[in-house]
Amino acid sequence: MAWFKKARKPIESTEKPSRVPEGLWVKCPGCSQVIYNKDLDKNQQVCPKCAHHFRISAAERLRNLFDDGKWEEHFPHLTSNDPLKFTDTKPYNARLKATIAKTGMSDAVVVATGKVDGLDVVIAAMEYSFIGGSMGVVVGEKITRAIEIALDRRQPVIIISCSGGARMMEGALSLMQMAKVSAALARLDRARLPFISVLTDPTTGGVTASFAMLGDLNIAEPKALIGFAGPRVIEQTIRQKLPEGFQRSEFLLEKGMIDFVVDRREMKAAIAKALRFMGAAASPAAVETAAPAEAAAQH
Ligand SMILES: [Zn+2]
Repeated sequence: MAWFKKARKPIESTEKPSRVPEGLWVKCPGCSQVIYNKDLDKNQQVCPKCAHHFRISAAERLRNLFDDGKWEEHFPHLTSNDPLKFTDTKPYNARLKATIAKTGMSDAVVVATGKVDGLDVVIAAMEYSFIGGSMGVVVGEKITRAIEIALDRRQPVIIISCSGGARMMEGALSLMQMAKVSAALARLDRARLPFISVLTDPTTGGVTASFAMLGDLNIAEPKALIGFAGPRVIEQTIRQKLPEGFQRSEFLLEKGMIDFVVDRREMKAAIAKALRFMGAAASPAAVETAAPAEAAAQH
């Protein structure tokens, strides 16, 4: 029961609704400037004034990385079957159905194969708008299968993390995915195939505590929140004020937790360069043309 009641209606706002059509301009949270939406689109959703990185979808990430924006998607129809029959504010099953309808995706990760600067790769990109990019059984399974495709085809793996961590509605089953994906990555390592982990804003919880930190290279986008527990929980636990910029990419780079901080607009070139450095093979077409020369050299 409320102690006080508002007897009268609050005074109505005199502000008239803006006549500028919605979605044409956005205010940048980094520099507070108003940016034309089309300029942002042209700039991979990076503020042209202060380089603030806006959050983007898994599909946009794939479009930015793959040559000509072309890729083949794998296992798009795997969905969670709500093994625990879990209910929080609403039943998990209903939440899943609503999210699938809203996003048009079946779970929080897209597995795709294609070419990045001519190199054949397998990419798993996480989708934050699907229940906070949380890792449940399906995400774990799809990433594991992505690694298995890579093992099969002898291609490098890139995982783009954007996640709030394990999916609580799947309890311990979601936590098991940490071990499962890590084990698959260990097999990839034994097969001497590279794995590049790209950490974006935010990468937290069980995702950070497993595959996101296991890359041969761990590359982060600027100012991304990367951590295990949230800063407020840590402050309450250790009863100390946390340093400035704590859990942001640049801080983690300084402390040696990640290898590079790369601007989104340079990510593709950086990944391709790193893969070539690690000896990633060129596409089969290029190998075929190179083969006769090699054969000639042997004689
Ligand atoms: Zn800005």
